[in-house]
Amino acid sequence: MVNLLKSFLDFIYPPLCPVCGNSVSVHGTLCSKCWSEFNWISNPKCYKCGYPFPADLDLGNKPMCPHCASGECELDCIRSACVYDNISKNIMLPFKHASALKYQTLMSNAMINCLRDLNLDIDVVMPVPLAYKRLWKRGYNQATLLARPIAKYFNAGLDVDSVSRKYKSDMGHKTSKQRRENVRGVFQIVNKEGLVGKKILLVDDVMTSGATFYELNRVLRKAGVSAVYAVSFCRVVHAI
Ligand SMILES: [Zn+2]
Ligand SMILES: [Zn+2]
Repeated sequence: MVNLLKSFLDFIYPPLCPVCGNSVSVHGTLCSKCWSEFNWISNPKCYKCGYPFPADLDLGNKPMCPHCASGECELDCIRSACVYDNISKNIMLPFKHASALKYQTLMSNAMINCLRDLNLDIDVVMPVPLAYKRLWKRGYNQATLLARPIAKYFNAGLDVDSVSRKYKSDMGHKTSKQRRENVRGVFQIVNKEGLVGKKILLVDDVMTSGATFYELNRVLRKAGVSAVYAVSFCRVVHAI
């Protein structure tokens, strides 16, 4: 009966690639041509922060980038599905600012895929909070839309209100150090009891310098969280 209903719905609303509109077999997935245009992050990559290394570099098991080797990244691990470039930007920005919800499934599925081999044990999935001023203006938090299916996949709770965020002007094109200073102190713990001892997966659409994840990790650890992981759809890859 479910299959019959699915066939009927597929007939009325045929599954189409959300980027180019070509026919695909499953709703919310990319056609093979569009899929091949993304710069998906695979191995080799930094075992801790997911920074992609050149494909021909053989660094052995669990390689680390210089930032992680120097202890700069205090999260347990970070993963991103793809590199931030003109292709991923054309999905990410409309999704963030123009309610392009047709990209939700492909983005969250790609994020789940890049976490799969880690076998994480997660209690709570937490979208990076948006300041109320931005939430009112935009009407939704794009990170929450991505976090919902990820929480379902991990059979974990979705926490959207244990941490709040103060409004601060856009970080723009600042250096990584300036971004870290700009984001310092913007997150406040609202519900400490709900966080103590929890293993948390943070979710965001893009990771630029990592400053937002680092700062959120800092306040969550202070609140007694036991593990912090993070995932983004795309990440800016600077040369290191
Ligand atoms: Zn396509
Ligand atoms: Zn790293």
